[in-house]
Amino acid sequence: MPRLVSCEQNEGQMKVYNTLTRRKEEFVPRIEGQVRFYICGPTVYNHIHIGNARTFLSFDVIRRYLEYVGYHVHFVQNITDVDDKIINRANEEGRSAAEVAAEYTEAFIAGMQALGVQEPTRQPRATEEIPAMVELIGCLIENGHAYEVEGDVYFAVRSFPAYGRLSGRDIEQMLSGARVEVDQRKRDALDFALWKAAKPGEPSWDSPWSKGRPGWHIECSAMSERYLGSPFDIHAGGEDLVFPHHENEIAQSEACTGKTFANYWLHGGMLTIDKEKMSKSEGNFLLLKDVLEQVRPQALRLLMLQTHYRSPFDYSVERLQEATASLERIESGLRNLNWAVENHAAVKLAPNELGDKSVSWTADLLEKIDACHEQFKSSMDDDFNTAGAVAGIFELVTAGNSSIKDGVYGESHRRAVMEAVVTIVELLAVLGVEVGVIAAAAAKADEFEGGAMPQEAVDLALHYAGFGGVGVSEALDALVDLRNEARAEKNWALADEIRDALAGIGFVIEDTATGTRVVRK
Ligand code: AMP
Ligand code: ZN
Repeated sequence: MPRLVSCEQNEGQMKVYNTLTRRKEEFVPRIEGQVRFYICGPTVYNHIHIGNARTFLSFDVIRRYLEYVGYHVHFVQNITDVDDKIINRANEEGRSAAEVAAEYTEAFIAGMQALGVQEPTRQPRATEEIPAMVELIGCLIENGHAYEVEGDVYFAVRSFPAYGRLSGRDIEQMLSGARVEVDQRKRDALDFALWKAAKPGEPSWDSPWSKGRPGWHIECSAMSERYLGSPFDIHAGGEDLVFPHHENEIAQSEACTGKTFANYWLHGGMLTIDKEKMSKSEGNFLLLKDVLEQVRPQALRLLMLQTHYRSPFDYSVERLQEATASLERIESGLRNLNWAVENHAAVKLAPNELGDKSVSWTADLLEKIDACHEQFKSSMDDDFNTAGAVAGIFELVTAGNSSIKDGVYGESHRRAVMEAVVTIVELLAVLGVEVGVIAAAAAKADEFEGGAMPQEAVDLALHYAGFGGVGVSEALDALVDLRNEARAEKNWALADEIRDALAGIGFVIEDTATGTRVVRK
């Protein structure tokens, strides 16, 4: 059965690696029971590649786990729908930047859905958030952290002493770096653009400085402040964003608000293909949509989950095939377990043999189920070690199948096997790997000792008591409660009607000294 723990119970147990402090820290959200989570979204000028997908999947799993332990997660992801790359593509194709962005925004959302990534709570688009960015830039100019030159606005990096803390770089080192662009109009080579005056034909918005468009970094500062406030709890993205993007986000936000921007910085490792960096020119560049035409999304998820999110991940066709085979092994293991649960009555053994075997097989399997839950939780609490969590699930699949190799030994063993199925299915679902037998397994777990309960009980409970669940025993409870209420109100007609309806599906209501119970006729 589900073993959800509440987030209060979990407080202090979860450790996350924080890029800002370079160590694992206890995770304590700013507001009890709630997590405010921001992840940088895609720039929509093309279909996303599997590297992008890896990062989005990693943080989807982290979000799912936070929700599983009981946090309410506000998950915000921006969409960068105005950018040089979008404008260039639009020019090449002779259409507008808005058309290009709309096409790839839609493709991105469809791709995430196909991969089983949960929808963000909010998904603001840059082009719809310009006023918040203009306001933030205004605040920075006013505070002396930004300046205007010919309609462009730059952030004055040296005005923010903490610059470089996240990426662990010092300013002089950055200056000697080759990547600093030289622009004569900037006061300092390190300064970066907050607002860019539009060139003819480019998309533009009004601002006090020029008709223009925002720089990339300011987007995330403005949107996270607008939808999450500050400080928020988790800021996530791929590790290639640490510098300069996230460094710049911190500088912009903290220079304006004077408050900490985000408490925990989580960064995902990069995906390579056959140990090489993905590159179009090398021909080892893979789009998510093309991979999902070849394999089931669950297999891709299972593959990616077997590497820790902060480690580099090396993709290869062989590894994907292995993951597909693993997924199939889990599914056939589950089918065997289900079959055994359904057909246990067919297993015939001498009573004495049955008794002994039942006790030992049951105890052994229940122990393995507990161990799986424990390994899942301790792995995930340790900076979201999905590899450890998946390994524990694989072990339970193996243990379940060896437990039934000679059949199912009696009712308690049958129930233990059922619990193993539910555990495997449920824990995989926490990782977003849906194996599709959840409803069946959950309904089975609701069966009474000694045989299946008729589903009609649920329909009756819905009809009389407005019951909205699927569990048969809860449905019976709802009917008994309603009948007791009816009797208390002397509504004998309703009380009798419920009794007769239950009798119609094979149950008798017995009023005893200790209360009312339902038994099978
Ligand atoms: P972009 O659209 O380039 O800003 O990327 C969207 C997200 O994908 C960011 O969080 C990046 O860090 C991440 N990303 C880009 N390339 C890779 C890669 N090769 N492996 C993993 N994540 C990546
Ligand atoms: Zn960002």
